[in-house]
Amino acid sequence: MCELIIPCEVLSPGVTEGQLSVLHGWSEHSHSDVQHSFADPETEVQRFHQQVASLAENLQGIVSRLEGESLQAEADIVRAHLMMLGDRKFHGRIEEMVRRTGLAAHSAVGRVAEEMLQIFASMKDPVLAERAADLKDLAMQLQDRLRHSESKDLAEVLAHANQPILAIRELLPSIVLQARQLGVRALVVERGTGFSHGAILARAFGLPAVRIAGLEVLETTEGARVLVDGQRGELLIEPDEQERRDRIEAVRVPAEVIRCHHAAVRLWVSIVDPRELEAFDWREIQGVGLYRTETIFMEHREDFPSEDEQIRVYRRLFELCGDRPVTVRTADLGGDKPVSYLSASHEDNPYLGLRAHRVCRYLPELLITQVRAILRAARGNHRLRILYPMVESLDQWHFIQTLVREAIDSLHAERLVFQERFEQGVLVETPSAVWDFRRLLKHVDFAGIGTNDLVQYLFAVERNNANVADLYQPEHPIVLRVMRSLVRQARQAGKDLSLCGEVARNTRLLPLLVGLGLRDLTVGVRSVPAVSERLCTLQIADCRQIARVCLRADSVEEVRSCLGGMPDRDDSQKVSKGQAIDPVCSMTVRRMGNPYSLVLEGVTYYFCSARCQTRFAESNGLSLPSG
Ligand code: PEP
Ligand code: MG
Repeated sequence: MCELIIPCEVLSPGVTEGQLSVLHGWSEHSHSDVQHSFADPETEVQRFHQQVASLAENLQGIVSRLEGESLQAEADIVRAHLMMLGDRKFHGRIEEMVRRTGLAAHSAVGRVAEEMLQIFASMKDPVLAERAADLKDLAMQLQDRLRHSESKDLAEVLAHANQPILAIRELLPSIVLQARQLGVRALVVERGTGFSHGAILARAFGLPAVRIAGLEVLETTEGARVLVDGQRGELLIEPDEQERRDRIEAVRVPAEVIRCHHAAVRLWVSIVDPRELEAFDWREIQGVGLYRTETIFMEHREDFPSEDEQIRVYRRLFELCGDRPVTVRTADLGGDKPVSYLSASHEDNPYLGLRAHRVCRYLPELLITQVRAILRAARGNHRLRILYPMVESLDQWHFIQTLVREAIDSLHAERLVFQERFEQGVLVETPSAVWDFRRLLKHVDFAGIGTNDLVQYLFAVERNNANVADLYQPEHPIVLRVMRSLVRQARQAGKDLSLCGEVARNTRLLPLLVGLGLRDLTVGVRSVPAVSERLCTLQIADCRQIARVCLRADSVEEVRSCLGGMPDRDDSQKVSKGQAIDPVCSMTVRRMGNPYSLVLEGVTYYFCSARCQTRFAESNGLSLPSG
């Protein structure tokens, strides 16, 4: 039996074990730490400049190392920190504060950063929000250097840990860079999202990272053996031998098992970055079924990536894929994939607002440039398929085609070499596209089903909202009937139809999907072994029988019982920054300013209402605060 299992949100996947080092306070911005300097202010100013120079040298070294490993995008993140560090206005404000108030340099850095962060926060601008995390990170690094004699550095703290798993407040880029160098095996944090630069770096380095609700829960577990399960989203404290082995073995699928032939189904891979394919084993894989290009746009900080930059990234992809078909999806920006440099006004319902081609109604050059870059990068013998997300109707298809023609005309006019033979398809993600699929099929070369969004829009259930997660049911009979109808129509039209949503990697649902007639499945690189292995075990006749029963079902429960099981962990609640789960009713609630909270054994619990708070207090023998 494991001593404690803590649910987590996975920021960077992977399963690993080690010894827990909990660093409270580290990476906290010590704004409250107001210390005056005993030295004369000029000496303090000088010390500040020395540390800026030394940090700059260190960051420059990191940039060179990352570039040496062809981690260009990761190097750009650190380069942006370097630019910020050289900002003369920032230096001037710190010098002025040290001279005027006599504060020690590290306190002045904290104060100035705090003032700037407050201004950023008050402007509610996504660009500034992005910069805020970087500024915070830089200020923290400077403060640590300036305070060196008083605070331990990370290397010192981890010196005696055996295979350290580092628990730290926030997933900041500098922490991830240091952690990687110091041999940290995984990170456990309480702040940071999957979109943060820290998470991007962790994923690029293959360093598992998970987020838990609060580090307090680890207070008594310093030095314990822990297992970070960044597949299932759990942190195990002192797991027993069997549990440990099962979890680690689960991600180590032997090669001879995963590579058998599954004639009925073609398996494709989905990626967010061509580097995922650097050492990829292509056996049994048809090609790239989905390349989500928006990552390049999201990693960019100042403006949309240029045509040349995009060409470099796409070219690498085509080189890695050789003559296999590659499906490049044009940027699906907006919704849950905002970009900081697009300052569109606030949207109450971003999923129903400016997404994908809708952005191009205002900025047509966005799609024109991307299509030019894709076509130029695919020159030669490469097999290109361009996939357009969120195409709701034929009107949108025609609009997109106007821009594609413009892109092609401009390439001809400039006499540039590009790929002239390519296929085009739509991702069916809205009820309107389902309804008009037959018409769309007359125009497209192929199509995909984007179940992640399709389920959201079919049921009007937001895909990332924890409070309605149990209503987000990709295996609902309505979804199955929709998929069946799409399969039939595509077959009649003689067009390929691939399944691109997360359901395709759900091994429990695979027999059903195959039974529905889906013959092209697209899954992430890490899901390939498990999905491939499961496909090898399926009998088509059994799959069809399962599909027949499930298609007739009245409820999702009937489908689940036919498949034999519960909903997947993917449907479980995701807790974001500033949120907690009510331990009584399981609703996601806010932490800040929540009037219903109780502390039990050092852990603070938050509730949705006085009712849940009272129930919790009664069952734990606590007395409620009066008033
Ligand atoms: C989908 O919606 O199923 C899909 C493939 O697109 P994304 O998850 O990137 O929105
Ligand atoms: Mg989608």
